[in-house]
Amino acid sequence: MQLQSTLPLGRIAGIRIAAHWSAAVTVGLFTWILATYLRGTADAGIIWAAATIGALALIACLLAHELAHSIVATRNGIHVERIVLWLLGGASELAGEPKDARTDLRVALVGPATSLLLGAIGFGAAAVSSVFSPGGPVTATLVWLATVNVILAVFNMLPGAPLDGGRVVRAVIWWRSGDRLRAETAAARWGQVLGMTLAGIGAAEIIAFGNFGGLWLILLGWFLYGAANSELILAGLRHRLGASTVGDVMTPAPRAVPATWTVDQLLHSDLVYTHHRVFPVIDHNGHPCAILAWADLLRPRTPAHPGLRVAELARPLPPAAIAHVDDLLGDVIARIVLRPNLDAVVVVDPTGRLAGLVTSTDLTLVCNRSALGLPVHPTVTPS
Ligand SMILES: [Zn+2]
Repeated sequence: MQLQSTLPLGRIAGIRIAAHWSAAVTVGLFTWILATYLRGTADAGIIWAAATIGALALIACLLAHELAHSIVATRNGIHVERIVLWLLGGASELAGEPKDARTDLRVALVGPATSLLLGAIGFGAAAVSSVFSPGGPVTATLVWLATVNVILAVFNMLPGAPLDGGRVVRAVIWWRSGDRLRAETAAARWGQVLGMTLAGIGAAEIIAFGNFGGLWLILLGWFLYGAANSELILAGLRHRLGASTVGDVMTPAPRAVPATWTVDQLLHSDLVYTHHRVFPVIDHNGHPCAILAWADLLRPRTPAHPGLRVAELARPLPPAAIAHVDDLLGDVIARIVLRPNLDAVVVVDPTGRLAGLVTSTDLTLVCNRSALGLPVHPTVTPS
């Protein structure tokens, strides 16, 4: 899932951090829950201050959990686009797939391990604080933080994708069978069952006990079911695409726009009379650096003037939009299918120079053909 309209918060360990507006709802909700929990430990003003700090500290713990995933992923050669904080916690957006089961397992386990460690530190700090102020708001906040971290570790280890426990299931089945697709499918099916179970428990809570806290479980279960379902669809697609590579479907040596060109130069060139809708923009070394669509020309964000450079209108290429000729098509589709604003994937050769282009239309056609059981490539040349 790709969250839109996020606020960038900066970088930690080289990884971009952003917050979706819904993270503010989470901070508010946690502040309220913690303030209720702290009732009676101090004056109202102190309680609200402690609850706000505690809620923000919890967001920092969620971020630490995601950072652990992202740092281990980066160290194992998986590019991390960013971490987004949102309503249901944090999400690490990875632009690649783990190469082997061992890496998959490491990336999955380090998150819950971090939450457990934070829980242990929290309980330790609470023990120290209780010596000075037993029953005070600081001790109570530390106990609450530690408990929530332990609950987070346990919840995330529930065995269904996309939860960390689901990744562990995938890694273990992959390890034992050597079959990543079988492992992925199994983890996603478990995720669906888990999602339905959580939603069911939430509904039962409301019907049997009139406890509307069950709504939260229904929301969580519904989200998990949907995410597991998309993973299942992707696993099926990967299975059908098999060993097809980006090179099988790309347009080789596509027409590109030099980044130094002005919009005027582009409009007076023959490029505007080709049938292409999207153009890669290349730097002086022939390396693609941005993508320019007709839509970018028609909706200028910068006031148009004769000297306006193409580079000012083009959109920078996210790492997910750069592929290599021998990358598996299934992997590339999996990482861009959830990014609706990506028009194309540029293909580079081993030196980083532009080698080809795969547009979103090309990818949609590949998906449609594969759904109909047709090969990616025509096996018989049409006459
Ligand atoms: Zn996690």
